[in-house]
Amino acid sequence: AKRIVLAARPVGEPKPSDFRLEEFAIPSAGAGDVLLRTVWLSLDPYMRGRMSEGPSYAAPVPVGGVMEGEAVSEVVASNNSDFAVGDIVRARTGWQTHAISNGKGLIKVDPKLGPISTSIGVLGMPGMTAYTGLLDIGKPQAGETVVVAGASGAVGSAVGQIARIKGARAVGIAGGKDKCDYVVKELGFEACIDHRDPDLAAKLKDACPDGIDVYFENVGGAVFEALFPLLNPFARVPVCGLIAHYNDTEAKPPKWAAAMMRNILTKRLTFRGFIVSDFASRHGDFLRDMSTWVRDGKVKYKEFVTEGLESAPAAFIGLLKGANFGKQLVRVGGD
Ligand code: NDP
Repeated sequence: AKRIVLAARPVGEPKPSDFRLEEFAIPSAGAGDVLLRTVWLSLDPYMRGRMSEGPSYAAPVPVGGVMEGEAVSEVVASNNSDFAVGDIVRARTGWQTHAISNGKGLIKVDPKLGPISTSIGVLGMPGMTAYTGLLDIGKPQAGETVVVAGASGAVGSAVGQIARIKGARAVGIAGGKDKCDYVVKELGFEACIDHRDPDLAAKLKDACPDGIDVYFENVGGAVFEALFPLLNPFARVPVCGLIAHYNDTEAKPPKWAAAMMRNILTKRLTFRGFIVSDFASRHGDFLRDMSTWVRDGKVKYKEFVTEGLESAPAAFIGLLKGANFGKQLVRVGGD
């Protein structure tokens, strides 16, 4: 069996040497345990936070510890009456080919809802993040304008499509022409703008002639600065992620913090940070709606697959700078 551990805490952008591939004997299942063989591993931006020390909403991975992550696995041996050999489950087993579980936190995947990989994508944590952040915090109304960056990615692609289902206009921001073409032509957003375009602010203004009512914040940085003046009175900003800052080595207060606060006051803006687990009680609603939308073709999704556990570090480094085009997955074993 193989696993990838955190070799060193990265400074700035993670490097391949911050990870280490280790081999270990396939463990055997004790009383009440199951042995899992990883089929799909999800790579997600939050993992950058787990590589660093310092206060966050979750504890860091210890140096030498297995990198954290959610995976879809097959039960290959079972001493637990709740799970049979051949069952497909998802669990936070991390970056490894095999793991032992006592069944706690193990969730059976229903293959009838879609390909099993979607249980960690559009029908899993990223889809749920889009659904709850947009609907419970953003609350888009018909005719309003919703803007989201990372628009071709796991969360952003679902945000814009759900906004459209609710009758809102969706404007995406993505890195490069191919991603923008996909967002407009395949996903049906009204417009999509490349965040590396030197005229980003002007193009955003053109794409949002009535201003912005909901800005689903995935990135921060230059995108946020360009967009902030376009927020309408009473606009809602679900603060989901700040990927433009995950590799920052120091926290710089914005020079324009005072101007921003004045606008929050005078325009009566709502900013609300959230972690998807805050909305656990909405999981049933999410799964019912999202699986229906996916089945009916109203929500499309794209997966970006790299092959083999060994590919995970490079794929993760790429994810932080836009090398992925769609939900980043690692195919660890055959499915
Ligand atoms: P994506 O599939 O969207 O992949 C990350 C993308 O971020 C990259 O492909 C890149 O796309 C974009 N990006 C990277 N750097 C920048 C930058 N400087 N400016 C603009 N875009 C950038 O990832 P996810 O959909 O999984 O995650 C999206 C966001 O949601 C992240 O911030 C993540 O941390 C957050 N999140 C938060 C959760 C919560 O509970 N609060 C749960 C899940 C995700 P491009 O090429 O278009 O630039």
